[in-house]
Amino acid sequence: MTLVYVALGGNIGDRMANLKAAIAALAPEVTVLERSPVYETDPKYVTDQPRFLNMVLSAETDLGAPALLVVLKSIEKKLGRGPGERNGPRPIDLDIVFFGDEVIDLPDLTVPHPRLAERAFVLRPLADIASARMHPVTGLGVGEMLDALEDDGGLISFQT
Ligand code: AMP
Repeated sequence: MTLVYVALGGNIGDRMANLKAAIAALAPEVTVLERSPVYETDPKYVTDQPRFLNMVLSAETDLGAPALLVVLKSIEKKLGRGPGERNGPRPIDLDIVFFGDEVIDLPDLTVPHPRLAERAFVLRPLADIASARMHPVTGLGVGEMLDALEDDGGLISFQT
């Protein structure tokens, strides 16, 4: 079993229902352990689009990282995600943040997630459930990465 952290986000349709449906769809291959609170956040990169809901969860799985990515992509597809513009509006986005302490550099999979350190919308909820966890390459803790951010991502708590 590997302890993994998965980031979830979406800004189209019933955002909360999409988060819940994505979490439900992870079983049975992926067993969710802990869920962060949900935050409403500013869109990053492509700013002219609706605000996102974001959260992070910890989970256990027997899958390898590439197989986990296949599962996540199939959930994205099932919940209506089309090809679309990169970083554009989507019902649900699922990213592998950490996969144990593995460092993975494949053509379609980089772990830890390569843009983790610049994303308040991932680091804030991640810090809520794993603040002391360390990035296996930089050695920085999740809380430290969050403190180093200048852009707070416009995060506000979202009542669930
Ligand atoms: P995005 O538009 O952010 O969902 O990017 C999707 C693409 O990023 C996927 O097709 C993945 O192959 C690739 N990717 C690379 N590293 C990761 C990761 N750690 N988690 C999820 N997707 C990843």
